[in-house]
This record gives sequence, C-alpha cells and structure tokens, in this order.
Amino acid sequence: MAKQEDFFRNVISHAKEYGYIFASSEIYDGLSAVYDYGQNGAELKKNIKDYWWKSMVQLHQNIVGLDAAILMHPTTWKASGHVDAFNDPLIDNKDSKKRYRADVLVEDYAEKINQKAQKEIAKAKKRFGDKFNEEEFVATNPRVIRYKKEEREILERLAKSLTDEDLVDVKALIEELGIACPESGSKNWTDVKQFNLMFGTKLGASADSATDLYLRPETAQGIFVNFSNVQKTGRMKIPFGIAQIGKAFRNEIVARQFIFRQREFEQMEMQFFVRPGEELKWFEHWKETRQNWHASLGLGEENYRFHDHEKMAHYANAATDIEFNFPFGFKELEGIHSRTDFDLKAHEEHSGKKLRFYDPEMKENYVPYVIETSIGLDRMFLAVFSASLKEEELEGGTSRTVLKLPAVLAPTKAAVLPLVKKDGLPELAHEIIEELKWDFRVQYDEKDAIGRRYRRQDAAGTPLCITVDHDSLEDKKVTVRYRDTMEQKRVAITELKEIIQQEVDFKSWMKK
Ligand code: ATP
Repeated sequence: MAKQEDFFRNVISHAKEYGYIFASSEIYDGLSAVYDYGQNGAELKKNIKDYWWKSMVQLHQNIVGLDAAILMHPTTWKASGHVDAFNDPLIDNKDSKKRYRADVLVEDYAEKINQKAQKEIAKAKKRFGDKFNEEEFVATNPRVIRYKKEEREILERLAKSLTDEDLVDVKALIEELGIACPESGSKNWTDVKQFNLMFGTKLGASADSATDLYLRPETAQGIFVNFSNVQKTGRMKIPFGIAQIGKAFRNEIVARQFIFRQREFEQMEMQFFVRPGEELKWFEHWKETRQNWHASLGLGEENYRFHDHEKMAHYANAATDIEFNFPFGFKELEGIHSRTDFDLKAHEEHSGKKLRFYDPEMKENYVPYVIETSIGLDRMFLAVFSASLKEEELEGGTSRTVLKLPAVLAPTKAAVLPLVKKDGLPELAHEIIEELKWDFRVQYDEKDAIGRRYRRQDAAGTPLCITVDHDSLEDKKVTVRYRDTMEQKRVAITELKEIIQQEVDFKSWMKK
C-alpha cells in the first residue's frame, strides 16, 4: 500500500514538474478538486480527444459530432431525472469531521474482501504452475468461495438499499461491517443523507427576474435534446450515433484523488440510437469496440477489467464499467450503458415535441433506444499518464525516469538537439524544425550535455530525439534515438518525416 501511495505521489509531482498538470489558481493555494493542464498536459489532452474523436466520428459513416452548450434549459434536468435523483449518499464521521460517500465506503470494504480472494488465487497459481485451473479453483476452494459470497452479499444489499432509497439500511450496513473512518479509525458516524451533485447558477442580471440554471452534470443531455435536429438535418438513419466532447460539472462530495474525481471535468460521450429490441446486441457491440480502442493504446491488458453493474442507474437496462488499474487501484474509467428510450421519452413528455424516427423498413414511428459510451477525458489522461511513468534500471547501475506515452498521444513527437551550441549546428537543427513543424509538434533543446537532454525528453515523454552533429553538416544525416529502447540509428534528414510518421500514425495505432 505504501508503495502504491508513493507511486501516486510520484505521478502527481511528475505531472507538475513536466508541465502536465497544475493545481487551479495555485498562487491562491488552489481550489479543491479543480486542476489546470499545463503546456504538455494541454497537448496530451488534445491528442487523447483527437484519438477518440477520429475513432468515433471519422471512422464511422453513421456517427456525427456535436458541440452543445454547457448551459441548458432548466427543464432538461427535470426531464432527465437529475433534479430529483442525481444524488450521492453522504455520511460524516463525527470525530474526524471527514465527509464520505457512504456507498464508496461499503464498496471499498467489499473490494478488500475481493483482494483477499485474489491473493488466494495468486498463491495457488504460483504453487500449481502450469497445471493450475483457475475456474475450478474459484469454484471449489472453500476460502475463495467464502470471500466471494461475502463480497456478493454486501454489494447486493448495498444495491438494494440504494435502489429502495433506504438510507437507514446503508448506515446499518456500515455499522454491521464495522467500517471505520479511513483517516481516524473512528466508527462514530452521522446518518446517511442524499446530496444533489449539480452546480446551480443564475441567468439574468436582476435578482428578481433571474432564472435558476445548472451547469450540465453530463454532456449526454445536449445530445438527446438535439436528436431531431441532427437526425433531420443530417438525414441520419437508425442505427446512428452522435458524439460529443465537453465539460461537465459535479459538486462531488469527496474529491481527493487528483484528476480522477474533479468538480469540473471533461467527458467524451457517444449516444448510439437503435431500434427498440436491438439494444442489447448493440450494447455488446460497443463493449467490444471500446475494449479494442483501449487495447490499441497498449497500456497493458492486465490494467483493465469490466465490472457489470449490480445497481443500475434509473434509466438503464444493462450497464458495465471499464475499470482501470489507477495508482490507487481499479476504478471506473468508462461507462457503457443501455439507456433504453428513457431520455428521449422524458424529453418528449416535458417538451411536448416528438422525438421519434420513422423507420422506412419497419414502416413504423418509434422512440429509439440508446446505447451510451461515456469516458472521462481526465480519467483517460490519468490512466495514460500513470501507466506510462516508469523507473528503469539501466546497465552500469544507473536508472532513468521515462514516460512511455503512446507516441500517437505524446505532446511532442520529436526533440531536435544540436550536439553543441556553435559551428552551425543550431542553424541546421532549426532548419530541420522548420521542415517538420508542419506535420508534427517538435521541440528545440540545446541546453546541457546531450545525455541530460535525452533524460529530460525521456521524462517528458518525447518518443524521438534527433541529434545534429558536425558530420550532419557534411553528410546531411542525423542520429535518431528511440525513447523506449534507447536504440540509436543514423538516418538521412530527408527520411525524418517518414520515420516520425511511422511512430505516430493514427491508422497503425488503431489497427494494433
Ligand atoms: P463515479 O461512480 O466514479 O462517480 P459515475 O458512474 O458517476 O462515476 P458517469 O456518470 O457514468 O460516472 O460518468 C461517465 C464518465 O465520466 C465516468 O466513467 C468518468 O470517467 C467520468 N467522470 C464522472 N465523474 C467524474 C469526475 N468527478 N471527475 C472526472 N471524471 C468523471
């Protein structure tokens, strides 16, 4: 655990040191759970957005983009259920005065039991080697069976009491399990209360005539209210999707995990409209498609797992989370939900406008069903960043810190380094940059010895270094050094564009 915490601290300080993430308004001591993206962070974030957008909108003839406003008519949130039901159960510890999400306290407790089962499995795997049959072991080992049963019973009871809004039982569960405040160890809890997560704001100058609005807590509703606009003007036929990237705001009860849980964050959402009755087929399709998208980035298969929901949101008939192994354990990175016709129907009822599709094949008018894929951009950023940060032992007893970002996402694709600051080498380096900058973000660096510059670019995540030396002036060749393997090769300056392109090519990455 201590190791995990150390690594997480490292991730946060590395993100700051290399211009990826700063606390918001840091000179005023920051604002809780709000962050700014620095010069490299802004690039990485933009590249993640592009990777998602291209995979959704550019690669699918039947998916189009949208950029809806953050402020929406307030009835939107009545219709969507957010005014009445976008709550988290909150509990305070009377001794430490710390505030928690009651459901998260219980889920973390259940996860600890799951970890015990996983430990037994890992031990047995080691003992039996190749002969190990995991399925059989899980089904027959009494200890694993007991742990799994215990975990399941806790989660089922939590799901039931949350669905029934039985907050008294949520508290009873916390007490029965003997869950203590992680900060103080105290078990002196208040009652559990519901807390609405939406940020309110006002529209209009004078206090009397001002209208109450909300900052959108999800981007999805901007898509639903524009369903007919896009369908009609784009002459879209079902099945089709609308994709959007944008800010969302939630007044989170507990936000202590860096950019994982923020109060202002970005979502990348795609709502896919399908025929009623076909939604579960498309749900499976999008589960697989999204899994492949993640796999293409090569962050490590073992870092992902699916978690099917016990407790569905009020609008869903199937839901799964793609969880990622963040520096603090497996947590939700992306949600895939079968949202039925809940949202479009609710907006029909509240607006009095029809939100339907005339299906020429079925000769029928219907409210489409919806599959949603929703991924937090900031969480994806954290997943990419933390999985890429490595401390490597090198030959000769030295080590290096390297940020092995997928090259397609890296903020700077190549650094151009003159071996010395004189003899015409900087001039040639600048010439190379002038040529490459039209296609890639490239950076010039002449300060310090070449070895130190390599280390600096490794730590900043730059996949390639291009070194210009005295011979370069004569033979028009340079040395290319690869960040991950540290391999170096001599190439013609005219080949550079092709070499960088090979590393960062969207198609090659997506097809991996
Ligand atoms: P959680 O259970 O972690 O609060 P959620 O189930 O409420 O998440 P959704 O409503 O499904 O999340 O939102 C879709 C995605 O938006 C999530 O998978 C996550 O990546 C992202 N997201 C949600 N809340 C936050 C937040 N406070 N900060 C950053 N990203 C968030």
